[in-house]
Amino acid sequence: MHDSSTSVAIVGIPFDENSSFLKGCAQAPQQIREAFQSTATNMCAESGRDLATIGHLCDVGDLTIPDGISAFTAIEQQVTALLDQGYRLVALGGDHAVTYPVVRATAKKHSSLTVLHLDAHSDLYDEFDGNKFSHACPFSRIMEEGVVTRLIQMGIRTMTPHQREQAARFDVEVHPVDRWSTDICRSLEGPVYLSLDLDVLDPAYAPGLSHHEPGGVSTRNVLDIIQHLGMGKSTFVGADIVEYNPTRDLNGVTATVAAKCLKEIVDRLLAAAS
Ligand code: MN
Ligand code: MN
Repeated sequence: MHDSSTSVAIVGIPFDENSSFLKGCAQAPQQIREAFQSTATNMCAESGRDLATIGHLCDVGDLTIPDGISAFTAIEQQVTALLDQGYRLVALGGDHAVTYPVVRATAKKHSSLTVLHLDAHSDLYDEFDGNKFSHACPFSRIMEEGVVTRLIQMGIRTMTPHQREQAARFDVEVHPVDRWSTDICRSLEGPVYLSLDLDVLDPAYAPGLSHHEPGGVSTRNVLDIIQHLGMGKSTFVGADIVEYNPTRDLNGVTATVAAKCLKEIVDRLLAAAS
């Protein structure tokens, strides 16, 4: 048996009730797992670490999620239980609404948490289509409750006047897509959580998404950021990968991109734990 106190766990959150435009993200965790385990490639991260033999990686399956608003409480409780066992978690969404309860649970475990949020969208609406828990709103909920110390957004290219006001109100550090750089990773201190909305990528790299937003970054750009996590005075403590929508994918290419990002995230979390 592995020792959970030094282990990384993958957990699925198959929940897309709060997607505003299209459903389908609930099918993502299983598809990402299949791509992650595919024999089309090996299990070595780019560092050379072989995830197939490391013995400190497990998949704890999917969370059990009730319908409606109690879903958020259920997600937070189950994530808290996994964190209490000592795991560093990578959560596979699901839409971006799931980040709110996952970050709440993570921040209880790691005080003074910094969230690095990669996305085409700032997800800072106060409400969207009358839903305060929409996937367009999680970072407003997180910031108004003071759940995290610092929120840094990168790749943003859809800010509305309302979202600019929200960013100013909550002191969010917004880096538009034309200022993409790994420099920010070197400035981080304390525990760091990565929230990866795959639509930060250009749709050319990741067509399997509900919200195509051209002008995005490449897969390599995202991997560069991941590979710089946990450097300097920071500790990489957890991550989510959200918004993959298999119903929009082409030949599973986006599942493969998600799985590649997962592989590199797991590698950096294992480096932080060892
Ligand atoms: Mn998002
Ligand atoms: Mn997005």
